[in-house]
Amino acid sequence: MTNRKCSVCGGKLTKNRKPFVIETNGQRLLIENVPCFECGKCGLTTVDSQVVRTIKGISRLFKEGQLKTEEIAIPEIDFDSVRLRQME
Ligand SMILES: [Zn+2]
Repeated sequence: MTNRKCSVCGGKLTKNRKPFVIETNGQRLLIENVPCFECGKCGLTTVDSQVVRTIKGISRLFKEGQLKTEEIAIPEIDFDSVRLRQME
């Protein structure tokens, strides 16, 4: 993969992993270790469209009650542990 640049300031993007909270029907789900890129200059965090799609899929499964989550403070799931069977 080539070095990416920030779409806002042109700064260098670094690969990172961050927790990401989604909300569906007033219920929150914490997704751990979501792959993302972080700008060293302005701090903007971006994710690939593929990752966005996966998060949407996770969100849908969660809404439908088909997701096995670990419940600590709020339901939690590791991004890499999810294998989506039905992608849009
Ligand atoms: Zn930037």
